[in-house]
Amino acid sequence: MTLASLDDELEGLALIRAAHAAAPGEIALVSSFGAESAVLLDMWASVDRYAPVIFLETGKLFAETLVYRDELCAHLGLRDVRAVRPDANDLRRHDHSGDLHRRDADLCCYIRKTDPLTEALAPFVGWVNGRKRFQGASRASLSTIEHEADGRIKLNPLAHWTAEDIRHYRRLRQLPLHPLILQGYGSIGCAPCTSPLRAGEDARAGRWRGLEKTECGIHTHRDG
Ligand code: SF4
Repeated sequence: MTLASLDDELEGLALIRAAHAAAPGEIALVSSFGAESAVLLDMWASVDRYAPVIFLETGKLFAETLVYRDELCAHLGLRDVRAVRPDANDLRRHDHSGDLHRRDADLCCYIRKTDPLTEALAPFVGWVNGRKRFQGASRASLSTIEHEADGRIKLNPLAHWTAEDIRHYRRLRQLPLHPLILQGYGSIGCAPCTSPLRAGEDARAGRWRGLEKTECGIHTHRDG
């Protein structure tokens, strides 16, 4: 069994288990340690707490996210969380004043997220992330297994989960809550590009508010 031939009926913990069995040591979980990240991280740790977790430390995250990351890692016993940072030369060249997110958000995401992730994924044949269909129109037809342009396999074990499924699992496992959830945030990314939700908005409406941008690009860019 290889990652590419995994049964696409699998999801959640069963998919993570099967992926670990198919490619031991060759897959990584990419986590933002955001609003819903605890669920997937809990599953990941329950299969192998020494398995690698990649965390994109963009330099623009909320201080609360960094504290939450440490709390969650200690709670779950995760032993290999790799903080991936933007290249210093890229920052000097494109964002020396730190306001690139206002001038060119796509380039900012590219140098702070997409490019560092591409480098971090080099040793792996596949990766796991926490996107879900309910998060908005751009994710409405997400499948659990995707094939990337560079040949890597991308797994979305929670693709079919609902917001209630997430809440239920979090309560059942008594997982710590990201502190910004209590302040009305539905999806939590970089501080300058994330705002709380208004009544009736979908989970990602607070990201890049006022721009047409709905994704940072780590998925769209890598899919070619
Ligand atoms: S989310 Fe905003 S601050 Fe973060 S990398 Fe993208 S544009 Fe830059």
